Amino acid sequence: MVTESRGLIFKIERMATDDGPGIRTTIFFNYCPLNCIWCHNPESIPNKPQLQWLDYKCIGCKSCIEACQEQVLSFNGDGLQIDREKCNSCGDCTEACPSTALTILGEWWDVEKLFREIEKEKIFFTKTKGGITVSGGEPTLQSIFLLNLLKLCKQNEISTALDTCGYSNKIIYQDLLPYVDIVLLDIKEIDPDKHKRYTGVNNERILENAKFIAEYIERNEKKLWIRTPLIPKYTATDENVKGIDTMEFTAPAKINLYLKVLSKREDGYHEIETLFERISIYDRLIIEKSENTSIKCNEPLVPTGKDSLLRRTLDSFCGRVPEKYNFKIHLENILFN
Ligand code: SF4
Ligand code: SF4
Repeated sequence: MVTESRGLIFKIERMATDDGPGIRTTIFFNYCPLNCIWCHNPESIPNKPQLQWLDYKCIGCKSCIEACQEQVLSFNGDGLQIDREKCNSCGDCTEACPSTALTILGEWWDVEKLFREIEKEKIFFTKTKGGITVSGGEPTLQSIFLLNLLKLCKQNEISTALDTCGYSNKIIYQDLLPYVDIVLLDIKEIDPDKHKRYTGVNNERILENAKFIAEYIERNEKKLWIRTPLIPKYTATDENVKGIDTMEFTAPAKINLYLKVLSKREDGYHEIETLFERISIYDRLIIEKSENTSIKCNEPLVPTGKDSLLRRTLDSFCGRVPEKYNFKIHLENILFN
């Protein structure tokens, strides 16, 4: 159970350059009041640690089935089946798995212990004007635990960002905001009916909270980033895009753990078999509405010409936006620097 000193954390990402300025430690909290159709982290929604199975890593050895004393696991034509009612998240199967296909997502943390873990990166926060970002799931659903964590950070001069979906009680924001430097607020869809259809909840409360948060931020000279995920077929619509002037994307670096070239395709690309991990270094791609189309990059070695990846990205982006706009694109390259 969540208490003022104990919270359920889904994941901790160190050296992140997303979700706020500078180098950050992003702490992903469990629980979420929304149920977005496009959710990438459904394992973060439940209120207990969850077993995750990655099919592309599984070699089918069935060691996990033998290791589980609760008889939770079985295989059928759709792959590994997990009886989540019976699973107690003990982790025995993850230890037996030779290919790291099984992981327990979510861990109970004491607030002091979590702070000590965060504090290890303080030197990076100070040097880069970074800090911590609390994200989710929805961090405000563990509000007292979160408040205590934020207080510890502020007492120790660590900058804080709150990444929220806006669907919490106003009193909770009132309590938390004095300990937050930047709010990253998701407004996923402006149309109330579509919002309900895509996320399972009405956006009325979110828009009211957005107004409240914006007023607080202005009075107290803090920062607010409003973010809208542009999901093809859902939120990447003309009405939603019309209200947005600037969009920022991250392009994460990856390490290939395994790569086999199978053949060359007609479009010039290769058909490959690969296993890769994303790492916490990102280039930033900023796209702004503009009178003319243009491409800029801080690194002269990155191609920006007719056949460049940047040009094709811009063309592809413009093709997905329903109405014709001009955009300028700026790549803030970190990987070469
Ligand atoms: S986490 Fe424990 S209970 Fe759950 S499937 Fe694995 S071994 Fe079984
Ligand atoms: S132990 Fe790991 S690799 Fe083997 S069947 Fe289970 S999940 Fe797959």
